[in-house]
Amino acid sequence: MAIFIPEDKILDIKNAADIVDVISEVVHLKKTGRNFVGLCPFHSEKTPSFTVSPEKQIFYCFGCGAGGNVFSFLMKNDGLAFPEAARSLARRYSIDIPRKHLTPEQKKRIGERESLLKINRQAMDYFRQMLHRSPTGQPAMAYLTKRGLSAEIIDRFNLGYAPKGWNNIINFFSKNGVPLARVERSGLILPKKDSHGYYDRFRDRIAFPIIDVNQAVIGFGGRVMDDSLPKYLNSPETPVYSKSRSLYGLHLAKDKSHATDTVYIVEGYLDLLTLHQHGIENAVATLGTALTADHVRMLSRYVPRLILVYDSDEAGIRSARRCIDIFWKEHVDFRRGDVFREEKADTQILVLPDGHDPDSFLRDKGAECFQKAATHAPGIVSFLIEQSIAKHGLSTEGKIRVVADLKNPLAAINDNVARSLYVKKLAERIGIEENIILQEIRTGAARKEKKDTGKHKVLEEIKGSRLERQIIAMMLQFPVILPEIRKYDVIAYIENPNLKSIGTAILDHQGTSVTQIAELLSGIGNPEQEQLISALAMIEESWEKDGCMKLIAQFVKNGQRRRDRQILDQIKVAEQKNDQETLAKLLKHKQKLAMRSQKQHLA
Ligand SMILES: [Zn+2]
Repeated sequence: MAIFIPEDKILDIKNAADIVDVISEVVHLKKTGRNFVGLCPFHSEKTPSFTVSPEKQIFYCFGCGAGGNVFSFLMKNDGLAFPEAARSLARRYSIDIPRKHLTPEQKKRIGERESLLKINRQAMDYFRQMLHRSPTGQPAMAYLTKRGLSAEIIDRFNLGYAPKGWNNIINFFSKNGVPLARVERSGLILPKKDSHGYYDRFRDRIAFPIIDVNQAVIGFGGRVMDDSLPKYLNSPETPVYSKSRSLYGLHLAKDKSHATDTVYIVEGYLDLLTLHQHGIENAVATLGTALTADHVRMLSRYVPRLILVYDSDEAGIRSARRCIDIFWKEHVDFRRGDVFREEKADTQILVLPDGHDPDSFLRDKGAECFQKAATHAPGIVSFLIEQSIAKHGLSTEGKIRVVADLKNPLAAINDNVARSLYVKKLAERIGIEENIILQEIRTGAARKEKKDTGKHKVLEEIKGSRLERQIIAMMLQFPVILPEIRKYDVIAYIENPNLKSIGTAILDHQGTSVTQIAELLSGIGNPEQEQLISALAMIEESWEKDGCMKLIAQFVKNGQRRRDRQILDQIKVAEQKNDQETLAKLLKHKQKLAMRSQKQHLA
């Protein structure tokens, strides 16, 4: 891997960085034995299979196979290239890296990000000024106050006002000497269609800065104060902002959600502010989109209990149904569902009663009542059942439709206990025998199983034979065996190209001890091999010399037999062709190999 940061700096970073430290910033880790486990940030799961070893300084997910050292984690999680990951760690541990070591391409990328974030922050300050200091902002302030928001909340969320007119933001940045082409990249201004120049995107709107967990201003939401359309307007996708991956209020919700093990998900900016106004701070809002799979993944990393809050109107219910689909796939499909069963994340759907939205409900009934309603909110399956019954009724026809509605979701539950409980619940609720429902969902389950085994086979093929994998795991975890590996030329018998090159790398990496696995990883430069190393290093096995020698003997014997067969085949071909020259060469080679095998006392 090309490294543009001096080796000694990389070493400093490696020594300073602690993988548990870095990963626990984004994943809630729990200690189990020698390792830590948590919910994987790279695939969706309800039960933790993401494992971090402080001793080996590596991570590995038994669910999706993601793995590596602290650098690979940052690269994967933050979408960084190696030098950027190294720089970010260096910053964190106050290790000084001169910029000149970056390539022009990297400088450009980092520069662009930083420039966009700076522009956004300047815009946020400008919008705030307009709201607080300018007479044009007075109606906006009046509007927010009328919505029941205190000065403290307005301040906490850095709310602002984008003034009326087409050139306000343009003039602001021009005055500050920022090139407008650069401002355009932030989405704050748009190029005019048929003439030169630009115009402001946000006009006469309340400005809601969208702030990420690192406190960076990544974009804006804008809301009108009357009935004009569109009601909400957001920043477009930029290198720093993606609406399917961003949640409004997450930077404030993170700690609170942790403390309460619960997060509320609401639909609008103002709903979220209202929750805060009533002291409920473990909440986030989606940004003018339905909840996405990425959102679910992000949130279930922090908290075990998600509560979706919707108005009681048709749109709310429709939206809830759509979200259920995501939750279903996200939480069930990938679940390992064995040892960690008790830690499943919970998802509830809270549809507010009597035409209330969060704002009116909280004003009328208060925070306590809201939280009480949330406690009693149905889980995903119960909600689905009730929704389906409400739609189809409990006539004979209706019951058939209800079973049809629930067939696929129930079949998708991997956890047998949970599935049978839900089946029982549905059976009781609509008065049908459990057996009949079970029969219905079996067709769905069978289809799914077929798909799963197919996937596993592919994985097995990629990862080589079991014995080959065991050899590499042994080399990683029990390095005292390395001299024997060298002596019997074990690597020569490994057929899988990835495992072979990993084996060679381990031998090249003189004196590998368990603590040096992370270091070995940074020299690999091949993501697939990095994953393999992490996986094999993380497998729990206790090694002792005798067992290892037996393993080596068996492996080498198999390998020699296979090689002998190949040579015999080649000899046969040479005989058929009457190719005496090749034949002589092959026979000599065969003799040499036989002698070597004898010398090794393994054949
Ligand atoms: Zn995973």
